[in-house]
Amino acid sequence: MKPNIAIIGAGLAGLTLARELSGHAHITLFEKARGLGGRMSTRRRDRHRWDHGAQFFTARSRAFRALLKPFIAEGAVVEWQPNITTLSPSQAPYKRPWFEPHYVATPGMNGLLKAMSPGLNIVLQTRVETLAQQAGKWRLLDDRAEELGEFDWVISSAPLPQTQVLLPFAADTWSGFGMQPCYALMLKVHDEDLPVWDAAQVNSSPLRWIAFNHRLPGRDRHLGAVVAHSSADWAAAHLEDDQDSVRERLTAEFCALTGVTAPAVQEAHLHRWRYALATDVDNDPPGYVLSATHRLAACGDWCLGGRVEAAFTSAHRLAAQLRRLGL
Ligand SMILES: Cc1cc2nc3c(=O)[nH]c(=O)nc-3n(C[C@H](O)[C@H](O)[C@H](O)COP(=O)(O)OP(=O)(O)OC[C@H]3O[C@@H](n4cnc5c(N)ncnc54)[C@H](O)[C@@H]3O)c2cc1C
Repeated sequence: MKPNIAIIGAGLAGLTLARELSGHAHITLFEKARGLGGRMSTRRRDRHRWDHGAQFFTARSRAFRALLKPFIAEGAVVEWQPNITTLSPSQAPYKRPWFEPHYVATPGMNGLLKAMSPGLNIVLQTRVETLAQQAGKWRLLDDRAEELGEFDWVISSAPLPQTQVLLPFAADTWSGFGMQPCYALMLKVHDEDLPVWDAAQVNSSPLRWIAFNHRLPGRDRHLGAVVAHSSADWAAAHLEDDQDSVRERLTAEFCALTGVTAPAVQEAHLHRWRYALATDVDNDPPGYVLSATHRLAACGDWCLGGRVEAAFTSAHRLAAQLRRLGL
């Protein structure tokens, strides 16, 4: 009989794992948000859209390129070749070419996850809060103490701090892994009021990245939407500051760096990502956390200290290991 597996989190890692194990097990994915995306989410307001998490990704491994191939063929994933520059408060801008393909999903970054989701059993708006062991099974409860079912295995693909709270592993399991915060500033600005470049890497500033999101492939170029990301260090130092003053400070920094005038900024919104980017991982880790005895596991970008592709690779490696264990 096929085992019942609960996967917590329907970001790229959770969806990858569910797809790769679906022939071997009955899978239920629990996602606390209203829609798919995780840190590849797209924020909407009126007709404007901002990819306020990941803005692009690379595909270095053969396995990740194989996953993307059909989605590239159907246009859900497209190569992005922006006119990219480097900015800093003290230096003149200089052009900064990319030397490998960078991809975006369409019409928003969550487009890849939507394209991966058909056929999967995904329960949205459900935050897994508690795991309890009973008669050799794991019972899951949500944040209102409602029963979510009984499972043979539970696998978390939530960011590290949320996984640590959920899975009853020894504290030293998590040493060597870490995550850093980031602020995402989302601005509405007419395209004609913006510089000619499409995206900028920023140095020596509270901001580290600026992109004219509406110029990404598959977006509406007339709906000027800027995404600016803070540096991790700046976000950590200002994480609990008044959020209005953080938004105003980052908007002023954006105007100073780009020459866009303050009245040209029609709207400014802020998102605080407490767990945004995985810190580097030492050596060559397995890429997941697993206890076959307890039938618990975890995967996600933080297991490999990387980004979108690391989230895929972590889940891909965990799926292979679970199949080796006889799922
Ligand atoms: C601001 C920012 C910029 C970034 N820029 C880039 C970039 O340019 N390029 C790049 O490659 N990567 C970038 N990244 C990183 C990239 O987004 C992540 O590496 C990748 O999306 C992680 O996928 P994941 O599936 O591991 O985790 P997530 O996408 O975080 O998915 C985990 C899911 O678990 C859900 N969840 C958590 N707890 C629970 C619970 N208790 N119950 C149910 N569901 C739960 C969450 O809602 C979430 O949907 C960026 C991230 C951020 C935040």
